[in-house]
Amino acid sequence: MKKIFAFSFDDGTVQDEKLVSLLKKYRLCATFNLNSAMFGTSYSFDMNGHHVVHTRLSEERAVALYRDFEVAAHTRTHSCLKLLPPKDIVEEVVPDYMRLSDLFRRSVRGLAYAWGGENYDRLAVETLKNYTSVRYARTAADCNSLAFPDDFLAWNPSAHILSERLPSLLDEFERSQTDCLLLVWGHSFELDFDDGWNRAERVFARLAAVPGATNLTCAEICDLFIGTRGDQ
Ligand SMILES: [Zn+2]
Repeated sequence: MKKIFAFSFDDGTVQDEKLVSLLKKYRLCATFNLNSAMFGTSYSFDMNGHHVVHTRLSEERAVALYRDFEVAAHTRTHSCLKLLPPKDIVEEVVPDYMRLSDLFRRSVRGLAYAWGGENYDRLAVETLKNYTSVRYARTAADCNSLAFPDDFLAWNPSAHILSERLPSLLDEFERSQTDCLLLVWGHSFELDFDDGWNRAERVFARLAAVPGATNLTCAEICDLFIGTRGDQ
């Protein structure tokens, strides 16, 4: 039986330092999705009544922080790929994973689509498939299930880390006697609000204690199910 759980976090903001400490406390691995042209940038916005200062780690801090974790692409400049023609999709994606591969001295071929909601379309998926060596692309559309993806280039996660549906998925995951995958995603800056850090820690503590469950990175899940592709 394959009972697998994974975490995927976007944007590489400074709160990832606290998140990595928490993951290490429970000996968990995760995937971090980074924008190679945006290290060290900062801006602010309002979200659900909260004022968010969104500051990305510098290159140097990122290289040190993610040493023991999977790094994946998130487009060079955090672009929504479904709004772009194929040529621009390729230019946002290929230099991104190449730069991250150079910086982190390993092959980076995973991706998380940038922006929320319906942040990809068939053209984006086909362009990744035909013109890049991206192996998997995680969406921001919760599937609210423990199913494995039909298409790794349109990989819907199980649930956001602060989703109200996550506790029942955790119950289901703990009870499951069949193959299942729980992929939890989010952003560490979101955990600064609504008791987010405590809620995240409860998720980590529960999953770390599930008998027979395996914590993998997204790339490792890909390796298990679709093998390697092209220049891996
Ligand atoms: Zn993002």
